[in-house]
Amino acid sequence: MNALRWLHPLVVLVALTAATRQIESQEVPKEVVPGWKWTPDSIRKAVNAVRAGRSLQPKRWPAGAKVAVLLSFDVDNETIPLRFGQPTIGELSQGQFGARVGLKRVLDVLDRNRVPATFFIPSVSLALSPEMATAIKRSGRHEFGVHGWIHELNSNLPEDVERDLLRRAFDELTTLTGSKPVGYRAPSWNFSPHTMKILREIGVRYESSLMADESPYELLDNGQPTGIVELPVEWILDDAPLVDPRGTRYSPPRDVLQVFLDEFDRAYQEGTMFLLTMHPHIIGHRSRILVLEKLIEHIRSKPGVWFTTHREAAEYVRHVAGMQ
Ligand SMILES: [Zn+2]
Repeated sequence: MNALRWLHPLVVLVALTAATRQIESQEVPKEVVPGWKWTPDSIRKAVNAVRAGRSLQPKRWPAGAKVAVLLSFDVDNETIPLRFGQPTIGELSQGQFGARVGLKRVLDVLDRNRVPATFFIPSVSLALSPEMATAIKRSGRHEFGVHGWIHELNSNLPEDVERDLLRRAFDELTTLTGSKPVGYRAPSWNFSPHTMKILREIGVRYESSLMADESPYELLDNGQPTGIVELPVEWILDDAPLVDPRGTRYSPPRDVLQVFLDEFDRAYQEGTMFLLTMHPHIIGHRSRILVLEKLIEHIRSKPGVWFTTHREAAEYVRHVAGMQ
């Protein structure tokens, strides 16, 4: 039954995507006006659509901790090759590694160190390997967050398609994990012109895809406070771009570890937040899991560190700032 429940929307999405592409290809491309021809008003309108508002960095974290450490894992697995409708067998097998091997290694390191984490999962990824939910829930420490339905490129979708997929992703993740997620991470780490509106309709407590700070802040929607906490990410705090052996920016895992250590040390010195994004199908390889092991070992050697989930960090800063 479950398989049929999600296979059906998958077929619909592929058809929908094909139809959308067809419509798009018939559209006359809009003329792009370069920024130097914009008026001050149009510049301000573009910049203010979604922007960082007040800082929500608390003076100190719970129990007087100097720094909050938020580890997140985007469990993309097969959805990366699936999303554009042309998956190859080889790419799918590389994605399956995430559920089959990578996640177990990640959970082993986290659970051995009694460290919590947040797992952002496209619901198709979890439907393909539902045993991941059981494994993640076992320690009782980790959180589930939404990461799209099929890792769709949300920033390019028409409003109704984006809304439908996001609502479905929240519903299916609730069914598959047994608890309602409260946080969102955009698959493309980007917003469409409609994403903010849809997130406000759904009522998310926090968002974690934007990059205007290294500490929590409140998102503004056309200048107005939204009551949504942003827990910012950064590409330099992500395992994906740097350890892809076929990428143009490849760095050996031990060099990447040094970047993460330096980022943590400065966050610790400044007393803010350290948020890291990883992927089980990437960090879960033998030569890379040591990055996570060595990093946690280093962080645990310091006093005054609060390891927490995104949800707990967001709720804490909401409480301190007097937000509902
Ligand atoms: Zn992802």
